[in-house]
Amino acid sequence: MRSMIVDDDEMGRMMLATLLEEFGHCDQAANGKDALALFDRTVEEGVPYDLICLDIIMPVMDGTETLRQLRERDQQQGLRTKVFMISACSSPQDIEDAFFEGDCDDYVVKPFRRDVLIEMLTRYNLI
Ligand SMILES: [Mg+2]
Repeated sequence: MRSMIVDDDEMGRMMLATLLEEFGHCDQAANGKDALALFDRTVEEGVPYDLICLDIIMPVMDGTETLRQLRERDQQQGLRTKVFMISACSSPQDIEDAFFEGDCDDYVVKPFRRDVLIEMLTRYNLI
């Protein structure tokens, strides 16, 4: 599984990366702009991401806008990248918006739990 974590919280990124790296290569980005650049590069290289974990509140480009642009790129490339939003529990409305407007697949809640994450990765046929 190739994955990318997009989160401006470095500690959260590291914790999630530790889990995801058990199952394959995992890139990290601190904002949506950098994430889209990495996404484009992997598409060009022919090794697109299987999963992107996307924080909502970030500087430069937030998760909502990033998701919108990701879905545009998906459509152009004939892809349908799995996207889990990262929730800090404090933003249920943002998560709801991401589902209805951005077509995300699911969400993960901080602090991340290994058993919950593995169950999700299994359910979405990612591992
Ligand atoms: Mg954030």
